[in-house]
Amino acid sequence: MVDTLVSEASGLSLWGFKSPPSHQRILILCSVLGTFSSAAHAKTLRYELSDFTPKTFRIVADFSEVTRIVINPSPSIQPFISDLSLQTEAPKAFPLKANQPIDLRVCKKQCRLSYVFHYRDAAEKIDDIDRIGLQDSLVIGDPSLWLFAGDSDAADAPDLATLSADTATSSHMAHGFFPAGPSYWSWNPRHKDGLAPMLIGDIQRETLQVGASAIEIVRAKSALPINEKSVLAWIKNASSSVAQYIGRFPVPKVLLYLRPVKGGGEIRGGKTFGSGGATILIPVPTESDDASLKRDWVLTHEFMHLSLPLLPRQHHWMEEGLATYAEPVARYRLGFLTRAQVFGDMMQGMPSGQPEADDRGLDHTPTWGRTYWGGAFYYLHVDIELRKRSQGKIGVENGLQGIAAAGGSIAELWDVEHVLKAADKGTGFTVFSDTYAKMKDKMPAEDLDRLWKDLGISADAKVLHFAEKGEMARVRESLLSGKP
Ligand SMILES: [Zn+2]
Repeated sequence: MVDTLVSEASGLSLWGFKSPPSHQRILILCSVLGTFSSAAHAKTLRYELSDFTPKTFRIVADFSEVTRIVINPSPSIQPFISDLSLQTEAPKAFPLKANQPIDLRVCKKQCRLSYVFHYRDAAEKIDDIDRIGLQDSLVIGDPSLWLFAGDSDAADAPDLATLSADTATSSHMAHGFFPAGPSYWSWNPRHKDGLAPMLIGDIQRETLQVGASAIEIVRAKSALPINEKSVLAWIKNASSSVAQYIGRFPVPKVLLYLRPVKGGGEIRGGKTFGSGGATILIPVPTESDDASLKRDWVLTHEFMHLSLPLLPRQHHWMEEGLATYAEPVARYRLGFLTRAQVFGDMMQGMPSGQPEADDRGLDHTPTWGRTYWGGAFYYLHVDIELRKRSQGKIGVENGLQGIAAAGGSIAELWDVEHVLKAADKGTGFTVFSDTYAKMKDKMPAEDLDRLWKDLGISADAKVLHFAEKGEMARVRESLLSGKP
């Protein structure tokens, strides 16, 4: 199962693919803003999209609340921008030349920048799906490339960005931004290193509600047919497992882009993007059926990623470790795995996460084993400690609830201290921080055989036996069930 994963490479995107991604984005830690308690007081940048055609759409960006900034469009995107004009007290055309900044300090009160984006040409020429490219027949790209925002470090930078679109434009787009009202969406525009990807083109979509959250399931209208009933049940089961584990689905909305791939077999990988919103890309074999999808762990793993804010690259193990550790436990709680499967996989996987002789701690040893299983061991250790101290009542899921209560999710970029503090607050203990301090720079290898024995697990001819009596057996059962 999980032990076939290889290292995920990017801080902005979390890969579950079995081969490394082709492109790596470097994550730069942005200033932490937390949640917006009152959008009314935030300096807002408003985007309206309109005039959709098979090759272009218009963007009107209203900078009236943030006029003291200069915009430097990416040189690679400039050839695909036309009809740029600035509407201010004295409207004027605004010729865009290569490498010429757009200085909005000429505005006083009114400041609306209007331009046409040639998205189809950009996708064909740039042809890089991590920036803008084509997948199936859809354009996929990072909307920060064409939603001009200016320098996010400027004193007058906006605190909030909102997006709305006319009906025709809206029906040809899907994005990971969270809803902020009946027909508009919002995000933190200071996430300048990229935003959760957007899809543009002939899209078929369906929305699945998980409690108060929406999973927007999309694929290209021209995509190969898939076994829709089984696929929908698969998405329901994975999302319910994560919602049940944490207490609610971790984000108000996620864009789930399904890419049918010809053939059968298992789901081979997925990719989760955060920053400003949440988007998951996942290839689905056209011959997938109930049986193969019931075995799948990848989608639950990707949904679990949504609960944790994006962290600087050195803490990537904390992101992968959570998804690796909590995915089987969450699936167990809804009856999709047995106790023997959960612990059997842990016993098989955990040894590859233990430190070797040259280890420099979880923050400084970015190998596959330390990232996935070293990270998973961190959460197992945290869970056991919390259960011991709380008579089984408190565990890792309470830490995730603490992060959610502080406004954390994959849409945010936090530093590690912020995550640990919020997680500890959710539990009432300092186990997340204390365990991190113990494992980040160096840690001795754990005697895992001893640990399994302590937890009352023994193996005989590959069959696991579970002792039902004793304090540690109770700890083991409470971390599995979430109940004391
Ligand atoms: Zn992952």
